[in-house]
Amino acid sequence: MITNDKVVAIDYTLTDETGSELDSSKGGEPLSYLHGHGNIISGLESALDGRAVGDAFRVTIAPADGYGERDESLVQEVPKEHFEDAGELEVGMEFQVQSEDGDEMIMTIVDLDDESVTLDGNHPLAGVTLNFDIMVMNVRDASQEELDHSHVHGPDGHHHD
Ligand code: ZN
Repeated sequence: MITNDKVVAIDYTLTDETGSELDSSKGGEPLSYLHGHGNIISGLESALDGRAVGDAFRVTIAPADGYGERDESLVQEVPKEHFEDAGELEVGMEFQVQSEDGDEMIMTIVDLDDESVTLDGNHPLAGVTLNFDIMVMNVRDASQEELDHSHVHGPDGHHHD
């Protein structure tokens, strides 16, 4: 059964409110994570709590329990000359930037014209209601090292150099 400190492997397909597929583990390895450590979005972690291998279910997760609500103050227009060294710009390109309080954040180009570039610092799934179709593939005890690091170690988890 899935409880805190178990390593859980799930197959999942993520769709939005209109049924379009956003992401899926199909055709690849299941997603492995350490339960109870905030490694996955909170709505998904609570939906998995107490489940067992072989359980298949659908869960709908509101933005607040997923990637958060959209924050329009994270959308900003900047002069194109700030990107002189960035090469060819395209809508959809992502940049890692430092925010004012020193956190790293990903900004995505959402609009572009001759003078300016509009960047959006929201997670692409912010404000989106998420539907996950889940199948629990495996549950095992975590190693002490995994608990110390608060994440899963290989073969299908985190690898250290
Ligand atoms: Zn580690």
